[in-house]
Amino acid sequence: MFNLILFGPPGSGKGTQSEKLIAKYGLKHLSTGDLLRSEISGQTPLGMAVKSLMAEGKLVPDEIVIEMIDTALDNNPQVNGFLFDGFPRTTSQAEALDKLLAQKGTSIAVVLALQVGKEELIKRLLNRGRTSERSDDVNEEVIASRINEYEKKTAAVADHYKKYGKVEYVKGEGSIDEIFEMLCEKIDAKKIA
Ligand code: AMP
Repeated sequence: MFNLILFGPPGSGKGTQSEKLIAKYGLKHLSTGDLLRSEISGQTPLGMAVKSLMAEGKLVPDEIVIEMIDTALDNNPQVNGFLFDGFPRTTSQAEALDKLLAQKGTSIAVVLALQVGKEELIKRLLNRGRTSERSDDVNEEVIASRINEYEKKTAAVADHYKKYGKVEYVKGEGSIDEIFEMLCEKIDAKKIA
């Protein structure tokens, strides 16, 4: 199995690049944001419980997303590997993920960290808010809160994986194809190594 984490702040292009990477490498895409949004649109009890936190741009509790990922791993026993997008977002989520993968005899091969400047992030998110259904992209205050959550809690996830030499940085500004090429180079280098 080849498992990777696509890491970066909100608006860094994780969703766009994930689509291209799963197509090229045959990975299963696991986006906790997408899973949570589908709980909300299905009006499930879990969806109702997380709706207001997400609307405010706050992280939902670790236990909820870890449980969702645990279930998704169990539901996909036959895949080539997983691409985690938007998860893990805290150090405890990273530790829980490492444990769940170890129980399945596998691990994270690489963490690809997309780097994008703050002004560009805000511009992209407001732009996405004009064309997508995502209510958390419309309001500048909510966007600021999401970036703040990233800086406060999520940036530490890179430090966690740096301890194991697994983090590779890629500049997330430029054309979609250029960024994709750079991500593929990093993946291919790990696959050969
Ligand atoms: P995303 O689509 O990854 O930008 O996530 C949208 C929102 O879903 C975030 O602002 C959080 O409220 C919630 N969320 C997604 N993934 C996680 C996670 N791993 N941990 C906590 N909250 C999450």
